[in-house]
Amino acid sequence: MTSSASSASSSSSFPFEFVADPGQDRELLDRLGFISGLKEVLTIRQVHALEHATVWVLEEMAGAENDGSRGDRLGGMSTETGFYLYGPVNSERLRRAVQIALHRLTRGEWDLAVHPRCGTNLSVGMLMAGGLAVGMSWLLPKGPVEQLLGLGMAAAVATQLSPDLGQLAQRYVTTAIPFNLRVVEVSATRDWWERPAHFVRVEWID
Ligand SMILES: [Zn+2]
Repeated sequence: MTSSASSASSSSSFPFEFVADPGQDRELLDRLGFISGLKEVLTIRQVHALEHATVWVLEEMAGAENDGSRGDRLGGMSTETGFYLYGPVNSERLRRAVQIALHRLTRGEWDLAVHPRCGTNLSVGMLMAGGLAVGMSWLLPKGPVEQLLGLGMAAAVATQLSPDLGQLAQRYVTTAIPFNLRVVEVSATRDWWERPAHFVRVEWID
């Protein structure tokens, strides 16, 4: 992948190195779990990373079969209970890909959390974050959640300005390494708009 060079240069333009802390979201919930919506936001960030990594893995599998065109037609959408995967993919292959993606992400391949074709999730995540910010900003003047949301707003603007900033936003704001997710099932289904898709259902583990 060409992403190693570009991610190296973009991380050096950011004031700190990306390090995923396995206990981070658990800790936030312990301290701030009373905030409604917080768990949903934290869950969606982890699901979103898993969605991206799964697309990477499926693309790799397709590439290995000399069927490179296939990957481009894959897309995803994350929710707080799992993600939809669109495109021509076999359920059994998807089941394998999700497990591989989860394994690789949590073992340190954090670059898999960022995908260049991301877009739809950002707006959904920001909408949720926005609602949360309005509800909570007066209560938590300097808390980590407000900082996170401030970053989120900045990220939404940044994404409009440049794809590089959009990738930074993905890494730091709209995704998080899925240390707290377990895959429950993968099934063929239809999404909210009746489009055919697969749904990868997950559950939160502490
Ligand atoms: Zn995305």
